[in-house]
Amino acid sequence: MTRNVLFLLALLAFAAPSRAETGSFFDGSGGGPELPALKFQAAKTDSAQGAPSKQSGADLYYFTPQEAKEAAKRFKFRPKMRGWTFDSNVPQNIQDQMLADLAFMKGIAAEKATPLHSQIFGKGGAAYAEFFESRVTGIGMNSCGSAKAVACVIPFMDPTKMWLTQNFVKFSHPQVSRMMVVYHEARHTESDNGNWPHARCPDPFKDANGNDMKSIWTGALLAGEPACDETPFGSYGSSTILLKNISKFCTNCTEKVKMDAGLYADDQFGRIIDDGARKQMQDDLYR
Ligand SMILES: [Zn+2]
Repeated sequence: MTRNVLFLLALLAFAAPSRAETGSFFDGSGGGPELPALKFQAAKTDSAQGAPSKQSGADLYYFTPQEAKEAAKRFKFRPKMRGWTFDSNVPQNIQDQMLADLAFMKGIAAEKATPLHSQIFGKGGAAYAEFFESRVTGIGMNSCGSAKAVACVIPFMDPTKMWLTQNFVKFSHPQVSRMMVVYHEARHTESDNGNWPHARCPDPFKDANGNDMKSIWTGALLAGEPACDETPFGSYGSSTILLKNISKFCTNCTEKVKMDAGLYADDQFGRIIDDGARKQMQDDLYR
């Protein structure tokens, strides 16, 4: 496997295609992150640990703690810069939508914030803008290793870059839930925190009514998938806290926005699988 990987890396470095077309390398489905040639060359002498994790295809992109550690070593220098850019292949309408979505977040006024929210984000729109702008340096398009992925951060390529897939683009989701995905991914840029890798969901994985837990974005079954969190501070946990606070405390949001925020927050809360973490969030958000 290692030899194949190195061969592929070398091949890509020389041929510089825009996409890793390979069946067996990632998951047998032909999927895999699309790897820009320049960044890839920097990675070609690394071991297979630098290669992306096998993707289940169930939900958002998955990486291992080991990959995050390798990435943190490789990208140790992180300039304290502000501002970010779109890759030129991000469709104009998506750029416009993203800018409008982020402006919406920046404009949020909040009467208060829960303690967990204050700890992670602070309070209100200015804090949301700061959170995003101090973490994300670029937004591009990528398959994120799966036909069902929505968005991803791929630490071994660039821990500060956020990728969107066609699923982010082609489905119509409420504005506040798009921001749930974007802030979920922004949390994954935190190299100092191991990029907050997902935890594996239980199998079987049922809701309170005994129904199978599914992704609210793709409908994919979550049992046994690395699509859960064991801490309130991870990507699912923090985006749950973000949306629940918008639902409860936004003073200039429409009722629809607050309802959507509550709906998606409650859904994401279902992915918190540790009893202690659930209790902490319950106490913070649901009373
Ligand atoms: Zn994630």
